[in-house]
Amino acid sequence: MTVRNIVTFPAKVLRAETEVINEFDQDLSVLVDDMVETMRDAPGVGLAAPQVGISKKLVVVEFGSELDESFPKQLYVLVNPEVINRSEETVRGIEGCLSVPDLVGSVDRARVVTVTAQNQHGKPLKIRAEGWLARIFQHEIDHINGILYTDRADEIWQPDENDQDVPDV
Ligand code: ZN
Repeated sequence: MTVRNIVTFPAKVLRAETEVINEFDQDLSVLVDDMVETMRDAPGVGLAAPQVGISKKLVVVEFGSELDESFPKQLYVLVNPEVINRSEETVRGIEGCLSVPDLVGSVDRARVVTVTAQNQHGKPLKIRAEGWLARIFQHEIDHINGILYTDRADEIWQPDENDQDVPDV
């Protein structure tokens, strides 16, 4: 596994159209492993392929608590993910992004989303997520559609000690 370079704003690849993944082969497996390694190294709780310079529909997310048994840490590999349903109810939260360093912003997101995707072997997945996990999925799926949280934020600022707990995605 290799830690890849994370590209940062205003790199064009962050805005580029992404390709659907049709081949669930060794190349995909290497890319998934590298993205997981890169996300953990950053550290972050999510990473989309454009953030490592690859214009493909691939997202990895690892979120949960090591201290909370009801919400254990879990790794999600989402190939060709799409939000197929989102709650009308939104919540405001503070986000940071590995590709937009040294800034955070407040963003309204749907509180609950349903996401369809495939796993790295091509098996269909359907995941209902709420709260922070729903926020991370929405942030990452925005990445593969060329959207950055800064496009949606109503306020952006340089974090201080009050913002330390904002996980990067
Ligand atoms: Zn991001």
